[in-house]
Amino acid sequence: MNHDPNCIFCKIVAGQIPSRKAFEDDELLVFHDIAPWAPVHVLIIPKAHVATMYEVTQDHAPLLGRMLAMAPKLMREHGVTNGFRTLINTGEDGRQEVQHVHMHVMGGPRPWAKG
Ligand code: AMP
Repeated sequence: MNHDPNCIFCKIVAGQIPSRKAFEDDELLVFHDIAPWAPVHVLIIPKAHVATMYEVTQDHAPLLGRMLAMAPKLMREHGVTNGFRTLINTGEDGRQEVQHVHMHVMGGPRPWAKG
């Protein structure tokens, strides 16, 4: 599996940096954002290192589909029943801070800190 030793999310996948995990399987990890915008704010990431959406090809389509498709179940499990946002930032103009593809899923009662 592709792994970048300098990537903070790869370090989370490897257990070298702690995280509050919400779900894990062979190819995906979900953990709570360290600086949440909303009452519930999780990040869904592929375990394999893919830096940005620019590196994504058709081969990644099933993986990305799984990431999106697990959002509603995750939100329900966290008590989010009145709507949520899904967001993937890409590159500098997309304000991507961590160079490992991740999907934000945010929900819970407003007001939110951001977003
Ligand atoms: P983005 O701007 O889309 O790249 O978002 C990166 C997100 O990763 C931000 O919301 C950060 O709060 C979050 N983040 C950074 N480091 C950690 C960490 N160690 N554990 C959990 N979330 C993190």
